[in-house]
This record gives sequence, structure tokens and C-alpha cells, in this order.
Amino acid sequence: MSRKTFIAGNWKMNTTKASAVDLARAIAKGCPANVTLGVAPPFVYLDAVSAAVAGSLLLLGAQDAYFEENGAFTGEISIEMLKDLGVKFVLTGHSERRHVLGESSLMVSKKAAAVYNGGLILVHCVGEKLSERDTGKTFPIVQEQLDELSDSIQDPDRLVIAYEPVWAIGTGRNATDEQAQEVHAFIRKELAKRWNQDFTDRVRIQYGGSMKPDNAKGLLAQPDVDGGLIGGASLKADSFLGIAAAV
Ligand code: PEP
Repeated sequence: MSRKTFIAGNWKMNTTKASAVDLARAIAKGCPANVTLGVAPPFVYLDAVSAAVAGSLLLLGAQDAYFEENGAFTGEISIEMLKDLGVKFVLTGHSERRHVLGESSLMVSKKAAAVYNGGLILVHCVGEKLSERDTGKTFPIVQEQLDELSDSIQDPDRLVIAYEPVWAIGTGRNATDEQAQEVHAFIRKELAKRWNQDFTDRVRIQYGGSMKPDNAKGLLAQPDVDGGLIGGASLKADSFLGIAAAV
């Protein structure tokens, strides 16, 4: 089963308007045809980045979205607002939203359903903390986070799972090729319990956590690693494109 590799950059709370536009343009210019590339800039720069990369192969993403359609939700951004700006994919359950901003599993699951039901590509992040790995809880934690996915999901091309061990995010310490493959295979097996084999075989599972051009080749060569969710290395066009070139 061949799945088109999907490499997405999560810019987090970085860039200025000008640097976001420059970075997006440079990435869009180098977009290879054999890999799907996407970037998730800060909300406030989505419009400018969207205009800058219009007509290119680069997919625009958002780092978060609220699950309600509209109303009195001060500071929040709806799926429709994101679609209005050309957003094609949205992250849910990123470890910084879970563990830094205190987002509950219920909130993550409502957001994930809203993203999918709103017609966008859902990039649902899962991953264990170091203490959980050290106490043998990696699989149960990942399983709980996969349970956040809605039964309404039916299109495998609009579901992407990002396995991001929390201990590897922004630390410079990536999972080994074998550690990543082991959890990715587990994720695919878990998905197969709820969806059929054809669906499960088509879902892309990204690895995230200190992925860089020099470690991407080994990780992306694993049979169940279908791409990457990249933080730090997505902030420079050459390192982000270097990861794509490792495919
Ligand atoms: C992330 O935050 O999703 C991430 C993978 O960050 P980094 O690549 O910097 O570890």
C-alpha cells in the first residue's frame, strides 16, 4: 500500500508577518511533487501566507481551531474562518496544547470531530511523556488519545495521525527509527480495530519530535512512518526542504 508522504511544519508562536511570508514562499518554491508539504503558521499570518503561496502545491494548515461554529467564544477561531483563509489541515491534540495550555482530552476530541466534520484534513497528535514511556505506559496513553477520534471519520485521506513522543519535541532527542516504527505499527493496529483494513492502510502516520534532515531518512524509511510533523526544523526553508528531500 503506497501512501503519499506528508511533511508538515508547525511554526508555533514564531515568525513575523514578513518572515512568515518569506519562509512560506521559499518552501512553496521548493515543493517536490512526490511529497505533500504543508505549513501551519500562527493564526494572524494565515491570510498573508495564504495569499503568498496561492497556486502552489504547499498546503496551508492551522495549529488549532475551536469546535463551535460561532458565537461568544472570546479569542477563539472557527473552522469556517480557517476555511475562508484557504486552510486545508488543522492540528489537534498537540502536546503543547495538552500539557502547556491544559487542554483536556474531551476538548481535544470535540476539536478533532469539528475539524473532520468541517471537511478539513485532521492531523491528530498523540504521544507519551518520558515518565509514561519509562513506566511502560506508551501504548495505553497512545490508545487513549486515539479514542478521541470521532466515529464520523470515514475518509482515510482526511485523517493523519502524528505520533509525537513528548520527550522528543524540541529536545534534540528524536525517537530511534525502531522506537518510532514500533509505535506507528501499534497505531495502525489500533485504528484497524475501529475502521476496516483498507481505511487503515491509507491513513498516514507522521512522526514528530526533533526530526531534522540528518535523521529524517532513517525515520521516513520505516514502513509505517508516512511523513513528519516538524517544529524547529520547519522554521528554515533549507532544513524543512531537506527533510522532504530525504523521502
Ligand atoms: C512539534 O512541536 O510538533 C515538533 C515536532 O517540534 P520539534 O520538531 O521542534 O521537536
